[in-house]
Amino acid sequence: MAFESLTERLNGVFKKLRGKGKLNEADIKAAMREVRMALLEADVNYKVAKDFCAQVSERAMGQEVMESLTPAQQVVKIVNEELTKLMGGDEPQYLHIKNKGQTVLMMCGLQGNGKTTHAAKLGKYYRSQGRRPLLVACDVYRPAAIQQLQIVGEQAGVPVFTMGTEKPEHIAQQAMAHARDHGNDIVILDTAGRLQIDDALMDELVRIKEAVEVDETLLVVDAMAGQEAVNVAKTFNEKIGITGVVLTKTDGDTRGGAALSVLAVTGKPIYFQGTGEKLEDLEPFYPSRMASRILGMGDVLSLIEKAQSVQNDKEAEAAARRMMENKFDMNDLLAQFQQVKKMGGASALLAMMPGGNQIDADALDDKMLPRIEAIIYSMTPAERAKPEIINPKRKRRIAAGSGQTVEAVNKLLRQYEMMQKMMKKVRRNPKGFMRSLGNL
Ligand code: GDP
Repeated sequence: MAFESLTERLNGVFKKLRGKGKLNEADIKAAMREVRMALLEADVNYKVAKDFCAQVSERAMGQEVMESLTPAQQVVKIVNEELTKLMGGDEPQYLHIKNKGQTVLMMCGLQGNGKTTHAAKLGKYYRSQGRRPLLVACDVYRPAAIQQLQIVGEQAGVPVFTMGTEKPEHIAQQAMAHARDHGNDIVILDTAGRLQIDDALMDELVRIKEAVEVDETLLVVDAMAGQEAVNVAKTFNEKIGITGVVLTKTDGDTRGGAALSVLAVTGKPIYFQGTGEKLEDLEPFYPSRMASRILGMGDVLSLIEKAQSVQNDKEAEAAARRMMENKFDMNDLLAQFQQVKKMGGASALLAMMPGGNQIDADALDDKMLPRIEAIIYSMTPAERAKPEIINPKRKRRIAAGSGQTVEAVNKLLRQYEMMQKMMKKVRRNPKGFMRSLGNL
């Protein structure tokens, strides 16, 4: 299983801190030395490991005290937050897919890292969101590569554009014309790989980028390659400019180095992770989930989340104030949902939202949260601020953009309306409302 040894090492470090009443500087220093060793063993870039430990030490020694946590738990909390930050923050990064015209994704990377497989996985992923992707065979050196793309394309239910062994930049151009004619809105270019980086490969990729307007240059990186993968990412970024990374084979025996160092070294986020050989084995990359997985301390982390709910209550109060002033919109709703996710469930939302017990709990089961989030993400800023402008046409667009049904969009809007109504009632009797807040 991935990350096992890093998880074990970190757990060993935290175990030693447990039982100590108060941590002094020497305790923290000793712990951080071991954390650094654990990271280096996991093939994390040296500088990244060093900076990471410096940051954690600084925070651990600072005045960051939460009464409900022991000193050791506080260190776990800080390490977890810093791991999450290192990989990009709480929320996953999404590719920028345009609502009009074609979005071009260029897949590049070394041979065998999973480029062709992930071109097809992305095709399938976006197809399931109501998009019309097109796969394009720009790896013209191996006939087997074209054939492989055709096979996975068929499995994914995504059309494949091929032109044999023409020049890759020419194929890319023709593919764009084909996409325009056939209504394909996402064009995924599968380019050639090499066993190692060479100038001819880089030149070829640059020529493709000059021939067509590439929106996202995605480097496909094998997680099992560790630090070597990060060096490859650095070179690709310098030579052709990547916009992000698809981290493959995270189901394998990876040590964590690539996941932990790639953003710090290249400045480019990991968008997706491949979790298996099958075409559905693709997930958006959630830094916070990856951090929890690396720490492997479900119980401690959930305790920390509970401690943070005190903070969340304060934020809920601020949201409540906005409700009172009649300013509560979809942005606030989204912020609330994100907090809920952090706290771990819809039941928490119901406890947190003033009057939340009036909301249908079944309609808000935890699987709904990511879907609701996707719907709100697909709204324009104007729609979020004023959901009443969302007419049937907008609903259809939001549904397509979020990969959800119009029905689901309607449901969310109804729930929003219900909340608005409830808030009106509350505004009429603010004293009673504030009292109910106090009782939460
Ligand atoms: P390319 O040369 O970069 O196009 O690599 P391929 O797409 O042909 O993939 C190389 C091998 O890795 C194939 O056997 C894939 O099935 C396998 N592979 C790709 N992605 C993953 C993944 O996320 N997990 C696992 N376990 N295997 C993968």
